[in-house]
Amino acid sequence: MNFSDKNIYPDSWASFMSESLNDIKAKGLFRKLRVLDNSVSTRVKINNRTVVLFSSNDYLGLANDLRMKEASAKAVLSWGTGSGASRLISGNTTLYTKLEEAVARFKKSESALVFPSGYSANAGVISSLAQEGDLILSDALNHASIIDACKLTKAKVVTYPHCDVDFVKDYLDNSQKPKKVLVVTDGVFSMTGELAPIPQLCKICKQYGALLMVDDAHGTGVTGPEGRGTLDYYNLNEPGIVQVGTFSKALGGLGGFVAGSNLLIDFIINHARSIIYSTALPPSVLASNCEGIRIISEDSSLRIKLFELINQLRDGLVSLGFPVFPVPMPIIPIVIGDVSETLSVAQYLWDKGFFVPPIRPPTVMPGESCLRISLSALNTTEDIDRLLWAIKAYYKKGS
Ligand SMILES: *Cc1c(COP(=O)(O)O)cnc(C)c1O
Repeated sequence: MNFSDKNIYPDSWASFMSESLNDIKAKGLFRKLRVLDNSVSTRVKINNRTVVLFSSNDYLGLANDLRMKEASAKAVLSWGTGSGASRLISGNTTLYTKLEEAVARFKKSESALVFPSGYSANAGVISSLAQEGDLILSDALNHASIIDACKLTKAKVVTYPHCDVDFVKDYLDNSQKPKKVLVVTDGVFSMTGELAPIPQLCKICKQYGALLMVDDAHGTGVTGPEGRGTLDYYNLNEPGIVQVGTFSKALGGLGGFVAGSNLLIDFIINHARSIIYSTALPPSVLASNCEGIRIISEDSSLRIKLFELINQLRDGLVSLGFPVFPVPMPIIPIVIGDVSETLSVAQYLWDKGFFVPPIRPPTVMPGESCLRISLSALNTTEDIDRLLWAIKAYYKKGS
């Protein structure tokens, strides 16, 4: 069916939508969904072309790991495909208990609670905790799900300059005393791959009686000597930090979680609308999430392989004159700045057989458009050599 030449919606709505899209197109920011013909891996077929993917959050390649697939298939055969209800009605199975115990052990917390996604975990946790009269201090580069979650509360929300711990301290020094204060930050920033200054934030939070919440979606499974995440990297043993994470990245599955004390988890179960009014995850997903945590806890080989590739790419970029952040992470941005130049480099790399997504406003600040490379343990050293070679060739061609 093709409705494109007919206006099937009221005029006010149709013109609202098309004017907005025209405006987006004029700025070069129009987005379209790309269709992949095969499953997650570093080689994907798009429009009948095979390209090397440098854009997945499946950092350890677990999304296509045989152990994960078997765990998932086994759960489907014994439990079925759907969970049938929300967790507080009848969707809560022993698969949840097993997974939440595994998350709590992995995050070294007393308890944990699994949500349908990382997005809904942030929505549920932040909107439950923060009330009218409270203050939320949120990093300027926090993930959109945190920004949206803050909008669900009646608390005062102050966005602090990226990683600016002095601003946080000064603000708390000078603000009228709020009822409660929540400081929230990504552990690893999703667009830049930088680490948040958690030890400093933790110290300030203690000093001012504020609660610190770390969304470690990108750190979980990757960062720290045991892959437990950003707190593991800093060797920070602070059970009072609220840790949020997702199964959808290094853990190769789907779902979000929060880890903390029994008090916190009971409070959230009783308040978080995104868990109360949303259907429980399917058994297959719970089982593979659990297997993902088991693999990461017991087998560091994938993480070791990933970091060898990260270091190879970082060394190559430095020798091409691009700056890199001090701490190696699988997210490696190449900041280009201008939107059309960024699109042009991305197109060049695409033509050479690499998919490196260009990241434009509003995802990043205007003037900070970048190519966001993300690596998987399934990439090869040749993939990285060839990518570096292509980036070099683009700049040679231009000069
Ligand atoms: C991806 C991401 C989320 C959302 O997680 P989903 O499970 O994909 O909904 C939340 N926070 C951060 C920092 C993320 O990078």
